[in-house]
Amino acid sequence: MKPKRAGRCDRCHGALIIRKDDRPDTIMKRLAIDRKAARPLLSYYRRHGLLYRVNGAGFIGTVFTRALKLFRRHGWLIPPPVHHGGSGVLQGRRRDTPGVTPLWPRRRRGGQVVG
Ligand SMILES: [Zn+2]
Repeated sequence: MKPKRAGRCDRCHGALIIRKDDRPDTIMKRLAIDRKAARPLLSYYRRHGLLYRVNGAGFIGTVFTRALKLFRRHGWLIPPPVHHGGSGVLQGRRRDTPGVTPLWPRRRRGGQVVG
């Protein structure tokens, strides 16, 4: 999104800068390094038949659901404990994510459930 006035913030009219690590060429370089670094891992997991692809494009919830379907298909999810009905941080979204146990324990702060 371009600002209304070049080089100026639309809200505070301050000078706009592009950080060195936020420039397209820097990002492309970083992605190339990441891909190269991931290559041995990918071939390791592929060789052992443990490599699965999840389409990461789209809304975070959509991508999460795709990953979840994969986990379900392979039985990688731990069923939630039945005695307190708690699935922790995901409790508020239980309709979307039944059978999901969070990977971290739920903490309480002043009686309020926090992530
Ligand atoms: Zn501003």
